[in-house]
Amino acid sequence: MNKTAKIWMNGELIDWIDAKIHILSHVVHYGSSTFEGIRCYETSKGSAVLFLDEHIKRLRDSSKIYRIEIPYSEQELKDAVIKIIHANSHKACYIRPLVYRGQGAVGVNPHRASVEVAIATWEWGAYLGDDVLENGVDVRVSSWNRPAPNTLPAWAKAGGNYLNSQLIKMEALMDDYAEGLALDVNGYVSEGSGENIFVVRDGIIYTPMSAQSILPGFTRYAVMHIAKELGYEVRETLIPREALYIADEVFLTGTAAEITPVRSIDKYPIGNEKRGPITEALQHAYLKIVQTGEDPYNWLTFI
Ligand code: PMP
Repeated sequence: MNKTAKIWMNGELIDWIDAKIHILSHVVHYGSSTFEGIRCYETSKGSAVLFLDEHIKRLRDSSKIYRIEIPYSEQELKDAVIKIIHANSHKACYIRPLVYRGQGAVGVNPHRASVEVAIATWEWGAYLGDDVLENGVDVRVSSWNRPAPNTLPAWAKAGGNYLNSQLIKMEALMDDYAEGLALDVNGYVSEGSGENIFVVRDGIIYTPMSAQSILPGFTRYAVMHIAKELGYEVRETLIPREALYIADEVFLTGTAAEITPVRSIDKYPIGNEKRGPITEALQHAYLKIVQTGEDPYNWLTFI
C-alpha cells in the first residue's frame, strides 16, 4: 500500500505515520469496530464519491447495531471524507472510514471504552486482479458458512465479521482460487468474502435475499436498479448450490470488485468461461456512470 500524506482521526488531519492506536484498545482484543469501503472515481466531469450518503448511513446503522454512538453527525463525516480526499490530493481513491472502541477498559463490556473515528484513503486498482473485469475469476464454494442470523448480524459491516471472511478468502487463495463463495446456515448461496453474488439463467437474474446473512451491498442495489431499467427480471430468492454450476452467467459485485464475472466455480465452467452478455451490459452501464460522471440516478457526490 502506498502511504498517503494524511489520515483523518477524531476531527484532525494527522500525518500517516502518527495514525496509531494503543495496544489496549478494545477493538484490538474483541473486533469491536464498524467500517466502510467507499470509492472516489475520476469521472470526465471531475472526481466524485459513489454512494457517499448511503455508505455513511450504513456506518451509522452498523454502529447502532453494536450500540456504538458515533460522536459526529452524518454531515460531519461526509465533510471529513471529502476533506481527506483533498488533503491527500487524490483524483481517484478507496476510502476507509472506521469507527472503533478505544481505551478505557479491556473487559468484554464495551461501554467503558472510548469511541474513536478515523478515515484513511489510498489509491487502488482492480480488487480481484487486473483484466478480471473482462476475463472473470475462478472461485470455489467455501467449506466455511456465513454466520447464522442469530450469531453475528450480517447487516452490520463490523470488524469481527471479517474473521469469517478471512477464513473464506485464505482457503480460496491457498487453492489458487480468486475468491470463495459462502453458503448460509441452511446451505443456500449467500455471498463472497467481500462481494454479493448474482446468477443468470435463461435471461433471468437471481440474487440471494438480504436476510440470508449477506451485507446488502450498494453495488448489488445499483445492479438490481440498472438491470430493471434495462428490462431484465431480477429475483431475490433462495439459490441452491447446484444452481451455480448450471448457470449461464455468474458475477460478483462490490465497491472494490465492481462487477466481476465468474468464469468457473469448483472447476465447473460457467457459460463460455468468459464474461456473459448480461454481465457485460450491466458492467457497461455501471462503469459508464462512474467513468463519464453522467449520473441519472444521483449516486455520485462531486467533490
Ligand atoms: N458483502 C461483503 C461481506 C462485503 O464486505 C462487501 C463490501 N463492502 C459487499 C458484500 C459489497 O457491498 P458494497 O457493494 O456496498 O461494497
